[in-house]
Amino acid sequence: MAATPTPRLSELHAMRDQLQTRYAALKAAGLTLNMARGKPASDQLDLPAELMSLPGGADFTAKDGTDCRNYGGLQGLAEARQLFTGVLGVPADQIIIGDNSSLALMHDCVAFGLLKGTCDSQGPWVASQTTFLCPVPGYDRHFAICEEFGIKMINVPLKEDGPDMDVVEKLVASDPTIKGMWCVPKYSNPTGTVYSDQVIERLAAMKTAAPDFRLFWDNAYAVHHLDGKAAEIANIIERCAQHGHPNRAYVFSSTSKITLAGAGLAVFGSSPANVKWLLARMNQRTIGSDKINQLRHVRFLKDEAGLAALMDRHAAILKPKFDKVIEIFQRELGEWGIAHWTLPQGGYFISLDVPAGLAKRVVQLAKEAGIVLTPAGATFPYNKDPEDRNIRIAPSFPDLEEISQAAEGVALCVLLAAAESA
Ligand code: PMP
Repeated sequence: MAATPTPRLSELHAMRDQLQTRYAALKAAGLTLNMARGKPASDQLDLPAELMSLPGGADFTAKDGTDCRNYGGLQGLAEARQLFTGVLGVPADQIIIGDNSSLALMHDCVAFGLLKGTCDSQGPWVASQTTFLCPVPGYDRHFAICEEFGIKMINVPLKEDGPDMDVVEKLVASDPTIKGMWCVPKYSNPTGTVYSDQVIERLAAMKTAAPDFRLFWDNAYAVHHLDGKAAEIANIIERCAQHGHPNRAYVFSSTSKITLAGAGLAVFGSSPANVKWLLARMNQRTIGSDKINQLRHVRFLKDEAGLAALMDRHAAILKPKFDKVIEIFQRELGEWGIAHWTLPQGGYFISLDVPAGLAKRVVQLAKEAGIVLTPAGATFPYNKDPEDRNIRIAPSFPDLEEISQAAEGVALCVLLAAAESA
């Protein structure tokens, strides 16, 4: 988070007419810019271009002789699972490859928990109230899964080093309806937060009133650093096992932002018992996922070094966009002391906090000026940001020129909203 000087609201208020004139000019420019979703830009999608012609017409046999064109192989090809042992922190036999979306795997794990219970449950979660803890601000699609199924959500503040563990420990110890918690442990959406070893240790060790409590450990940005040095986080599955909770964590990731966002591989890693449990549920749902896609990913990425090299190329495209937004926010907003923004070292988002009560207004002003942002409130359960402060900025998709225009536009909207309210 950037340091903030003392707010200078009265000075801003005095500049209201001037800001309104600048805003009218912004509107007249007729921009159509979108910083709403964390989509890779097309030059990122070009990086794995070779994937489009792999595995090739005559290459359909996996190492163990599996004909990838045919049915079967529910858990995924062994060589594809091997690729993700580092990302997930478990051996290949504790990995399942899904189809293209890790969100779909998360959705299914929630749905299966509700309908069948976990491998540690007495019965289906749905038999009684089910509650999930939601570190905030967080990922809107996690919250949407809970909302879809009527799972009650409790906000937990996300601090600089992860969720507020004093709050988490107290809640899970006393409330047996708390069956799950959403965690994006590395370069979190939208703040870029990296969970510290101490936080991960406490999550692994904490006593939960529900014996079948699960961490939904969405490591979507496991290898998505923005500059040379990647953050390392503790291995949640190992930590949980060491504390006598071997089945506590379901770990998810995908290659959506490594290879192709619409045609990558989604992966699940967990304890042997959880893997057995999920395979037993999946067995009714599918005869097997897309092994041709798995094979072409193996052919293209080859190994963890291949994956890491590709991520450096993504970083080279993304870093200047993040730098540009941060440079403009600092230049336009820094001196006013009214906004905070994160300085992420990885992931896809910058989290912008504006004065309480103004996030909706800023997003509306931006929209009217042709700049689409994620709706205010989306980073909180039920779309309710209690303070109406947080705005998610997604700099990945537009090009650098568009990023500059959008960031300048957003900064102006923040100043104008603050001037109007002062
Ligand atoms: N988790 C997080 C935290 C994300 O930000 C995203 C994409 N925005 C996803 C999951 C989606 O993953 P997938 O494409 O594998 O469904």
